[in-house]
Amino acid sequence: MPGHVLVTGGAGYIGSHTCKALAGAGYTPVTVDNMVYGHPWAVQWGPLVEGDIRDADLLDSVFALFRPVAVLHFAAFAYVGESVADPGKYYATNVGGTIALLEAMRRAGCATVVFSSTCATYGEPVTPGAPMDEAHPQAPVNPYGRSKLMIETILADYGAAYGLRHMSLRYFNAAGADPDGELGEDHDPETHLVPLAIGAALGTRGPLRVFGTDYPTPDGTCVRDYVHVTDLARAHVLALGHLEGGGAPGMLNLGTGRGNSVREVLGAVERAAGRPVPWEAAARRAGDPGALVAAAGRARAVLGWTPQLTDIDTIVGTAWRWHATRA
Ligand code: UDP
Repeated sequence: MPGHVLVTGGAGYIGSHTCKALAGAGYTPVTVDNMVYGHPWAVQWGPLVEGDIRDADLLDSVFALFRPVAVLHFAAFAYVGESVADPGKYYATNVGGTIALLEAMRRAGCATVVFSSTCATYGEPVTPGAPMDEAHPQAPVNPYGRSKLMIETILADYGAAYGLRHMSLRYFNAAGADPDGELGEDHDPETHLVPLAIGAALGTRGPLRVFGTDYPTPDGTCVRDYVHVTDLARAHVLALGHLEGGGAPGMLNLGTGRGNSVREVLGAVERAAGRPVPWEAAARRAGDPGALVAAAGRARAVLGWTPQLTDIDTIVGTAWRWHATRA
């Protein structure tokens, strides 16, 4: 019996898709989410415990009740701009919350955690435009990225001292929606390119503002490595199996190894929608490098993970279908 898995932030975008993948692999996901940004409708494959991961009593009772075999840790604040304006909130919740979680795990004797990290822990690419592997220097350029890097460091220290089995998964740009249409991306406020472009096409939002058209990229707009959320979800289940099977702890990039520009994403939205996406050129957004692309081979070597939904039309098409049916 695979058993229960505690999923912090399981009512959020990547967490909820991962709960579905866990259920598909025979686990029962138990979501702990403070529901500040989570959605009740996203929790479909196991119980929801509403509460904060910094609440030690709550965590102790969840561990006692469900006896989870492992933790998948998504719960965090993730708005870069807000993290610059209010770093205390990010360090208290992301870092403080993780320490509270890890201490509850120690009390409960639960020693396996997969952590939702990010390519934002790298900061600016040392070689502009070149794929970044896991050995790339980590010099995050905002408190959000620094909070995630601190957590990676804490996990490694807990591994060395207490035997914690940990895997940090550094996502590049999560995008798309559950191909079955059961889940999708719904942030408020929304800051991400794909849902904003879809909203512009649907007329539920204003024209997309393209942040920078003068980057040294083929079409002048930023290049990112868009990775389908269902592929990300599957990687978490593989990482869990890897750790449960005694595999080495560490960190892995999750990306496709291919980049798409903002204009290419807009083109994919236009093909999915069958209509133009209203857009306007806007100034560069502070802290946006021209290109961020993963060197993605290590996750394949360690986990046997190969992203399946890599084509930008496929990624955007799943997102389009989800948004269009809700509009
Ligand atoms: N972007 C844009 N307009 C928007 C939102 C995003 O041009 O309204 C660009 C942004 O500059 C970046 C890419 O789209 O190059 C992806 O941004 P997103 O916020 O989705 O993810 P991030 O790369 O910040 O994690």
